Amino acid sequence: MSFWKTKKLSEMSIDEWESLCDNCGKCCLHKLEDEKTEKIVFTNVACKLINLTTCRCTKYSKRTELVPECLDLRELDIDRYGWLPSTCAYRLLNDDKELPSWHPLISGNSASVKRAGVSINSYAIKESNAIDFEDHIIEWLK
Ligand code: SF4
Ligand code: SF4
Repeated sequence: MSFWKTKKLSEMSIDEWESLCDNCGKCCLHKLEDEKTEKIVFTNVACKLINLTTCRCTKYSKRTELVPECLDLRELDIDRYGWLPSTCAYRLLNDDKELPSWHPLISGNSASVKRAGVSINSYAIKESNAIDFEDHIIEWLK
C-alpha cells in the first residue's frame, strides 16, 4: 500500500515527505492577516526566492536562513497546518483526506499539477513587481 496511506506524516522518511510536495508554489505566496479577524488571505505575490516557471524554491536548503518567515513544515506543529492551501498534500493528509487525482504521486507525472490549474505559475508575480501587497489579494485562493 502507498506510504502516505500507511504512515503518519511524522513517521515518513525525508524522501517520502518531500515527494508529497506537488510544487504548486501556493505556500510561497505572500499572505496578509486581518488584525481584527485574524483571517489570512493570499496574494498573488510570490516570495523572492521562487522560480515562477518551475514553482520551486531556488535556495531550498537555505530557505529559512535567507527568508526568516519561511516555515519548515516538518518542524511546524501540525495544529498550525490550517493556513496551508486546501490543496496541499500535507494539509490533506493531516485532515485524513485523499490525495487528488492530479497529485504527481497519483498521476505519475508532475505536469498534472499545472494541467489541473493548481500551480501558481499562471497568475503569480514577482515580489519586485508589487508595490502594495493589498492590491494583490486573491480571495478565491483558499
Ligand atoms: S502548498 Fe504544499 S504542496 Fe504546494 S508547494 Fe507548498 S508545501 Fe508543496
Ligand atoms: S524561501 Fe523558498 S520555500 Fe520559502 S517561501 Fe520563499 S520560495 Fe518558498
